[in-house]
Amino acid sequence: MGWDSLSLVDAADDRPLIERRAVLRGGFYETQARTMIERVPRTAGIAQRWAVSPYRGCAHACRGCGARAGHRRLGLDAGGDFDTRIVVKPNAVPRLRAELARWDGEPLAVGVSGDCYQQAERTYQLMPGVIEALGEAAVPFTVYTKSPLVLRDAALLERAGAQVAISIAFVDERIRRAVEPGAVGAQARLELVSALVEAGVACRVLMAPVLPLLSDAADQLSATVRRIAATGAQAIEPIVLRLPPGTRAWYLDWLAGAHPHLVERYEELYDRAGLPSPGYEQRITGQIEQLCHLYGMRSGPPEPAPRLPRYPQLALV
Ligand code: SF4
Repeated sequence: MGWDSLSLVDAADDRPLIERRAVLRGGFYETQARTMIERVPRTAGIAQRWAVSPYRGCAHACRGCGARAGHRRLGLDAGGDFDTRIVVKPNAVPRLRAELARWDGEPLAVGVSGDCYQQAERTYQLMPGVIEALGEAAVPFTVYTKSPLVLRDAALLERAGAQVAISIAFVDERIRRAVEPGAVGAQARLELVSALVEAGVACRVLMAPVLPLLSDAADQLSATVRRIAATGAQAIEPIVLRLPPGTRAWYLDWLAGAHPHLVERYEELYDRAGLPSPGYEQRITGQIEQLCHLYGMRSGPPEPAPRLPRYPQLALV
């Protein structure tokens, strides 16, 4: 929400910035967003360059979530605080509408700084207004989520021409419980994809994040692609785990406890920005592409959506 541009208040007040800016209500930090359309970090690996996130922080608590560093700018930590201290932007819809009035039509991602259908959405119900605003502005958009709550808005999403991307990186429940403890299991997400397809929503699967040395074995990738292929999803978009600052320490801390023999290999595999080695990434995405071919699925990011002219009437001249 444009946190970098926040004007700092009383310098003598040493509470975290978010506690000075927000109202704590029902366990959520409510604060008025100044900016809704934010740049997507280079390391995110998704197709869109700009994103809209009604929530910051995420109760799904994925160890490898790339959005963790955002909490540091609020004076919170990128680990447990990110999972439990969720920031809500109650003015998300009017603020977004104001920005869309000047937007040039570039496609947007929705739900990058925190899952837009996490538990907080049950209370605040911001997403119907977000979808309507984007649909009315005719801006192509993709909703990223792991939550079955997205089904509530299936009709709205279908009417707005939205893409939904459900993340399913593996179908092994032991891994899921360890690294995505707050999200529903793979089976529930596979059923969610089928239900969205059934409801007429354009739905793809983000096979992300593939975890090096934990979920990247040939039989694991094969089992995952095979089960996704049975859902009717349009395509699979593979993304290997990123470990940008903020995420890296939280993930490696867990890895050191659960799989200490892998820490050194991760240190070798990742560069300072948190990107995996290109050779490894190409090998994994290549394997997934071959599996998609085998199971009759399209792979890779979505085709670029046609950009609408900013002033449609001028396009006729
Ligand atoms: S569901 Fe998405 S936003 Fe939420 S913790 Fe997991 S990766 Fe991060």
